[in-house]
Amino acid sequence: MTKSDLPLSRPFAAVEPGGALHCGKVSLESLARRHGTPLYVYSADQILERLGLFQRALNGREHLICYAVKANSALAILKLLGTHGAGFDIVSGGELERVLAAAPEAVGRVVFSGVGKTAAEMDRALEAGILQFNVESEGELELLAARARKLKRVARFALRVNPDVFADTHPYISTGLREHKFGIDIRRALDIYKRVANNRWLEAYGISVHIGSQIRSAEPFGAAVERVSKLVQQLRRAGIELRVIDAGGGLGIDYHATHFDAAAKVAEYAAALETSLGGFGGTLLIEPGRFLVAQAGALVSRVVNVKRNGRKTFVITDAAMNDLIRPALYQAHHEIVPVRPQAGRAQAVDIVGPVCESGDFFARDRKLAPLAPGDLVALLDAGAYGMAQSSNYNTRMRPAEVLVEGNKARLIRRRETMADLLAPEML
Ligand SMILES: *Cc1c(COP(=O)(O)O)cnc(C)c1O
Repeated sequence: MTKSDLPLSRPFAAVEPGGALHCGKVSLESLARRHGTPLYVYSADQILERLGLFQRALNGREHLICYAVKANSALAILKLLGTHGAGFDIVSGGELERVLAAAPEAVGRVVFSGVGKTAAEMDRALEAGILQFNVESEGELELLAARARKLKRVARFALRVNPDVFADTHPYISTGLREHKFGIDIRRALDIYKRVANNRWLEAYGISVHIGSQIRSAEPFGAAVERVSKLVQQLRRAGIELRVIDAGGGLGIDYHATHFDAAAKVAEYAAALETSLGGFGGTLLIEPGRFLVAQAGALVSRVVNVKRNGRKTFVITDAAMNDLIRPALYQAHHEIVPVRPQAGRAQAVDIVGPVCESGDFFARDRKLAPLAPGDLVALLDAGAYGMAQSSNYNTRMRPAEVLVEGNKARLIRRRETMADLLAPEML
């Protein structure tokens, strides 16, 4: 296959050669005029296409795809995924409330991860009837047992084990080594399951593992699940039969390439999991976040000013690190494209926001076609960990969000107002 035969990795492209950028059939220029900038634009069609890739790849066995809400927690996106059969991986009581608001019928498909669940969060999740608590310490398991007894509701739990597998990714988003705060040492898990086997308020339901995020190779996922499968067999011999192996999330995308074969990536990932599951006959649960939503989203921003300082040219946009922090936080790369390409020689520029921090940049020394004040640019692959990690730093109002389905675009979150920002404060 040549490069150009591969499917486009993103829904953002010109509808005619050399023309302006669209999301599917919808013009980004018209969306920017209508809703202002900075503006997050997401393709519902691509999100569903990605969900479908996982669903088909895992078709051969019982499975559940629990979207990791923290990647993008927009209610409309949760509803879209819930309606199409997804469950949810949540990491806070707040995310549970989002699922209850957007897709209440999916609450039985929710798994609750995270190292610091409070008693109040556990109570709410027990009462809502979630599928499984992914428990990260013995102390947490004790607290869960106490809350379950108090509420007279059996808590289905999985131990999140730490498989001591190295995943090659940014150190801030690697989680599967013993030195990390996540999970329980896999060598201790057998004893813990045995110790609580007779607790009538705890049901040993599954086992979970999550080794990190933005992992590009299928190999470490296979290695982690293989270790977990061995433990499941040991547990079985001890009379403890688990129903779920939760392989976590973390499958990465290609932030650089214009052509990326997502279907092949998912197939490779599913095959690695399948091989490692051995004879396990229960449910395979996965928790993809980024892979489902990252490439479906772009942050559309307007150039405010172009400034020269000595030899450097700075393109200052109306979007900033508070809207999309990934470049500042993880040195992450985002492709940046002019929405309507202008003729002229490409030039190396820094694309920066107006926030008072030198870390407020989207790209450095990036070769881009000429840009002038008023032009629009799209920061691609911004659908995951973009809006979800946004803030009001510098008293900036967070962007509006639009969801595109077919040839229709719908506002799913209005731009914040100054009144929204001041509301919680008192003099
Ligand atoms: C963040 C997270 C995920 C999702 O990770 P992605 O890299 O977005 O797929 C899944 N499970 C857990 C426990 C997480 O913390």
